Amino acid sequence: MVRTEDRDVVDSFQVFFKEHCREGITELAENYRTEQTSLNIDYEELVEFDEDLAADVRSRPAQLQEYAKEALRQYGLPFELASNETYIRFRNLPERTAIPSIRADHRGRLVAVEGIVRDASDVRPKITTAAFECQRCGTLTRIPQRDGSLEEPHECQGCEQEGPFEINFDRSKFVDAQSATIHSLTPGDGRAELETRVEDDLAGTFAPGDPVRITAVVRLEERGDSPEFEIYLDGMSVSAADWDALEWSPASAEEQPADVEEALEEFQATAASVLGQLSDTVREEETKAKLVTPFVDALGWDPTDPRQVRLEYTDGEINDRPDYALFVPDRDHPVVVIEAKRLGRNLDMEHRTRNYMREYGADWGIFTNGETYRIFETAEDDDRPTEEFVAEIGLDDVHRSDVLLQLARSAYC
Ligand SMILES: [Zn+2]
Repeated sequence: MVRTEDRDVVDSFQVFFKEHCREGITELAENYRTEQTSLNIDYEELVEFDEDLAADVRSRPAQLQEYAKEALRQYGLPFELASNETYIRFRNLPERTAIPSIRADHRGRLVAVEGIVRDASDVRPKITTAAFECQRCGTLTRIPQRDGSLEEPHECQGCEQEGPFEINFDRSKFVDAQSATIHSLTPGDGRAELETRVEDDLAGTFAPGDPVRITAVVRLEERGDSPEFEIYLDGMSVSAADWDALEWSPASAEEQPADVEEALEEFQATAASVLGQLSDTVREEETKAKLVTPFVDALGWDPTDPRQVRLEYTDGEINDRPDYALFVPDRDHPVVVIEAKRLGRNLDMEHRTRNYMREYGADWGIFTNGETYRIFETAEDDDRPTEEFVAEIGLDDVHRSDVLLQLARSAYC
């Protein structure tokens, strides 16, 4: 499997494993099939051990992963390494590549990117080896699967006919898979977001709103018959990124926080003209974009800063997603949650807003259709938090509401 000229690489990895990874390999051997199914190799350690080897890992990570796997195989683990599973993950690449700068010539290379998780998918089973059962003779033909479309056998290994085949799920192999869009924090002319896919023990690590640092292989994928390809990241390691270390400068950071009353007055005027142009068939998304988001903005919460405002928020454990969740530093749960309905919709079903407040431990809840704002506050009654209705504020009154000032970001920071 490994060619003679690559023997050196395998040998180098064997020495590296003996000198640097004893603990990790022991752990892998103990926890395999329960939690940990891969060995993490610290890239910086690899650089110290052998610069050329490390450089090689960067330029052709997929091949080097195979050599490292071969070295691991020869290390003598108490289980067999299947050929199409990962096992080796390189992590802690020192330099970061800005998402907007990633191009086709990064293809196949190892990069590290930082950003915010958006649109994390559910964890789904992904077939890695499909066992196709011939419907004529019952013979199983196993085809290893790659990303993209399902690859079928050309002919049955038994009767040599072209099927028909059906997948035998019990005899096929699956791996957990998850994908997420990583939003760039670095301004640039290129893409702002990049799809990242992870598998196996990494599946389930993405939760929307998380700042992450990802070490990944850049890959291209066909888009149907189009000559244009899609770039995506094949994730090798994911770790939490430090907010303060991220190169993030929200547009409003340099500006002085605007006077809330003044901002609400401006919002009121703009909203009145927006209302005049919206028909009563306007949908929830448009209501949010044209009325609720500007309202949130007027209260001093920057909708473009994911540290302050998150949309369709979940903490990964609670399934309910308030339309808006507003955050302040040093509190890991939202201080305000907002449930929005389409313009014109009546606001009598407020239980969801109350639920969000209770589930996420928010101080305040807002239930709105863009024109009327119903405010709830969490109160401690008999040691049991209850969500009390505080006020109903129409657009005409937003600029003279004392209650709204308590929900402004300036009331917290
Ligand atoms: Zn057959």
